[in-house]
Amino acid sequence: MDEFTFHGPISIDDVVRALEAEFGVGNLRVQVRGDEESIVLQIASVARPASGGRTALTIHLSSIEDGVHIKMGQQEWMGIAASFGQTALGMLRNPAYLLGRLDDLAEDISSLQLNDRVLETIERVAKSVGASFEISEALRRLTCIYCLSANPVGEPHCIACGAPMGPSQPIACPKCGFVTHAGTISCPECGEDLSKNS
Ligand SMILES: [Zn+2]
Ligand SMILES: [Zn+2]
Repeated sequence: MDEFTFHGPISIDDVVRALEAEFGVGNLRVQVRGDEESIVLQIASVARPASGGRTALTIHLSSIEDGVHIKMGQQEWMGIAASFGQTALGMLRNPAYLLGRLDDLAEDISSLQLNDRVLETIERVAKSVGASFEISEALRRLTCIYCLSANPVGEPHCIACGAPMGPSQPIACPKCGFVTHAGTISCPECGEDLSKNS
């Protein structure tokens, strides 16, 4: 699963600042392109002679009505790192191999699971500003499918035309934040079973 939607008072800027603070250190660099609506952020390691090689991870951030949508790219390995990345954990079991390379390896190994660390960072920011995978109050406002009037949450019938409101209630996937309509059996994004939420 590599797409997430955080709902609530969270902006692209909040996420970018946190990722820059967390990953713009040590052997990693952060590059940001785009505007306030849509950003491409790349985290990449710096090439050094003794290092295992380079790695890079690209993250797309876009602004949505009630939060931020995040699409994580695949972490890429360049040069000899392509094989190093996959075998690094195996090498750890052979301490003799590590002698004299501990510092380089420590930095390379901390780059191994960038995806997980990025998601952890974003989740921490989301929590600190009060955003989550749960649908926000702004999206919960119901639009009547018959007359398009906005209705308060929990209103059984449209306040303008009296039509039943139930079927148009949006729900969010608890696992990835994807917004879909009530009655959806499984999340179109990550496949999570939503039948108990509808
Ligand atoms: Zn209506
Ligand atoms: Zn989902």
